Amino acid sequence: MRIYDLHSHSTASDGLLSPTDLVARARTKGVESLALTDHDTVEGISEAQAAATTQGLELIPGVEISATWRERTLHIVGLGIDATHPVLLEGLASLQQKRAERAQRIAERLEKEGFTHVLAGAQRFGSGRNVTRTHFARYLVEQGVASQVSDVFKHYLRRGKPGYVNASWVPLAEAVAWINAASGKAVIAHPSRYDLTATKMRELLVDFTAAGGAGIEVIYCSGCNPIVQRTNAAFAKEFSLAASVGSDFHDPSVPWVELGRLGRLPPSVTPIWDTLTPRAPLSPPS
Ligand code: AMP
Ligand code: MN
Ligand code: MN
Ligand code: MN
Repeated sequence: MRIYDLHSHSTASDGLLSPTDLVARARTKGVESLALTDHDTVEGISEAQAAATTQGLELIPGVEISATWRERTLHIVGLGIDATHPVLLEGLASLQQKRAERAQRIAERLEKEGFTHVLAGAQRFGSGRNVTRTHFARYLVEQGVASQVSDVFKHYLRRGKPGYVNASWVPLAEAVAWINAASGKAVIAHPSRYDLTATKMRELLVDFTAAGGAGIEVIYCSGCNPIVQRTNAAFAKEFSLAASVGSDFHDPSVPWVELGRLGRLPPSVTPIWDTLTPRAPLSPPS
């Protein structure tokens, strides 16, 4: 069985490792097929692809698109995309614009809370071009507000907190259309993280499949609740969606999220990799 990890982040979004270092770490951790899925950008793909060729693992070009469905933010992973497709690139450019505007507004709000140089501070924690809430959280940790990024989210960045700015991303169906235009497979990321009732989840899956969605993440954390995984697998089966597996790795200092450290899919579901083509050889060319 090949070891897959189909959800990860680099410094092109809110990951802490460069694409090259991410690929090297994945290889060390035994991953044989890695998808780089940065938030709303494919900027890291070519570097990751080059590193994967040298390291002898398969790099699946991917992206994690911020989408809006019924006023909620959902993350749609695109796997096996053509990262040069103009429809996808234009779409991602529009999201970059929204991110830049939102970052400005988040910075203004946090400055009202007494923090200074917030936007520049957040930008220092990434490429500066693709600012996420994680970058603000890292800056506030540096400022001594909390010891952990997750505490900053809890007190400043979540909905209802002083640094929260509601964003309207791309409509779900359009996000799926961009991925399909770029010959990729659209996958609902971490379905249990949206606080949806089973009824709402089914409504989402109806809309998602109607839009041309292909898969759903079933396994996304090593210590994950087995009930969550079973529920996800059941939704995959019910809606004839392929099943994906990905760590959502961002940060090597977070011990409970590691590349490739994921459980196995139950035999009742179709793995998304069976629908992706082509496969690269595992060993580097001699
Ligand atoms: P954004 O897309 O800019 O709103 O940022 C979303 C990112 O913030 C997610 O991809 C996670 O990496 C991170 N994030 C969201 N909630 C939390 C949390 N409670 N603790 C730590 N990181 C979080
Ligand atoms: Mn993230
Ligand atoms: Mn996500
Ligand atoms: Mn992610």
